[in-house]
Amino acid sequence: MAETTMTKIQGLAKQRGFIYQSSEIYGGFAAVYDYGPYGVELANSIKREWWKEMVQFHENIVGLDSAIFMDPRIWLASGHVSGFSDPLIECKNCNTRLRADQLLEESGVEADEKMSEEVINKLLSDNKTKLKCPSCGKNTFSEVKKFNLLVKSNLGDFNDNWENPVYLRGETCQGIYVNFKNVLDSIRVQIPFGIAQIGKAFRNEITARQFIFRTREFEQMEMQYFTAPDIDMKTFESWRKKRMDFYLNLGIKKENLRWHKHEKLVFYAKEAYDIEYKFPFGFKEIEGIHARGDYDLTQHSKFSGIDLSYTDPKTGEKYIPHVTETSTGVGRNLLMMLCEAYTEEKINNGETRVVMKFPRNLSPVKAAVFPLLKNKPELVKKAKKIFDLLKKSFVCEFDDNGNIGKRYRRQDEIGTPFCITIDFDTLEDNTVTVRDRDTMKQERIVIDNLSDYISKGLL
Ligand code: ATP
Repeated sequence: MAETTMTKIQGLAKQRGFIYQSSEIYGGFAAVYDYGPYGVELANSIKREWWKEMVQFHENIVGLDSAIFMDPRIWLASGHVSGFSDPLIECKNCNTRLRADQLLEESGVEADEKMSEEVINKLLSDNKTKLKCPSCGKNTFSEVKKFNLLVKSNLGDFNDNWENPVYLRGETCQGIYVNFKNVLDSIRVQIPFGIAQIGKAFRNEITARQFIFRTREFEQMEMQYFTAPDIDMKTFESWRKKRMDFYLNLGIKKENLRWHKHEKLVFYAKEAYDIEYKFPFGFKEIEGIHARGDYDLTQHSKFSGIDLSYTDPKTGEKYIPHVTETSTGVGRNLLMMLCEAYTEEKINNGETRVVMKFPRNLSPVKAAVFPLLKNKPELVKKAKKIFDLLKKSFVCEFDDNGNIGKRYRRQDEIGTPFCITIDFDTLEDNTVTVRDRDTMKQERIVIDNLSDYISKGLL
């Protein structure tokens, strides 16, 4: 089987309208990407599935959409102002900026962004001969400098002096913690319960490589589950299982997923695991599942002066709830879907077809409708009628351009599960040809049964 490379994925993503570089006509804006027409459909499908799984399927998980801008003290309380930093080094030869921990890891030296500057400097000098600048190949680097990842804005600062910056949020979950009491007081929830949110986050990432894997603006899907202190590890294990099952049920191959257990935990964390996916550039994190103890609500109680403890209505016991967090990125999920779906297949005539075998319910377009011939008004009219009927229930596309083979190829490349052709027989017997993306088999279906057929086929 042909290898799936990032060059192929990036090429298809651009050519077929999934992902564009931000500000491309101005030469491109580093580490920021735009979703094209099919990218936004795919991203929306991913978000819909996540929301369904987390909110709709759990009576005790509710949604939230908190603002990107927040009181800057929130980032002091969370530790992001002092601690949210990556170790930055610069290649002395070509001035490329790099993350020291990543350079070490890529050279087989175990490192972590949370290590102190001294420790990383020592690792760099001990392993000097192993290291190589990815841009120029040389191995002379500057000393490590910790670089804060929070993005600043001048919101509300009319002197423009940046002395009191308001930050663009570095993660969505802080919006959840600071609304914990609002949700508790306004909705009939009792512990254990969860709050889920999908939203943008911003990080001044040093290295901008690997396409949309690491971007400076991205979207997170996070859920914070609040429990009593004594049962939280059980909850943690059940969330680990649920989150892995989510990806497996979406059809991600088992061998492409694995657990990574954090050996070095931040001081408040009880346990932390990542789910990693096998990207063409290796196994990398797609989701973090972390047992955060009572750190977050304790910090916000301290910094805001508002008591965020919970009183159990049955026992009267009062405590600061403990948190299990599940946190994943829309972009990383989307990149995983592109990599997982990308397939090159030899077909009958020796030709190769590229087909994106997305899980059918995630495909950007669910059905494409073709009149067999463009210049036969009766076929076009009938096809339009069918298209208008189907588009009420599914994202559909109408295409009368080029021969049917070419139209199939185009739909294969965006992963459309069903292609429906209207031909002269349709005018006689009200049946159409439905061609399946994966098997390429064709079936005659009565128009009245078409909606049902597609619905069932998307499950
Ligand atoms: P990494 O180690 O890759 O920098 P992280 O451990 O800092 O990630 P978290 O802070 O745990 O990431 O964020 C949770 C999730 O948010 C990640 O699993 C990932 O899916 C997503 N995410 C984090 N940073 C980025 C980014 N810069 N670009 C895209 N997605 C991101």
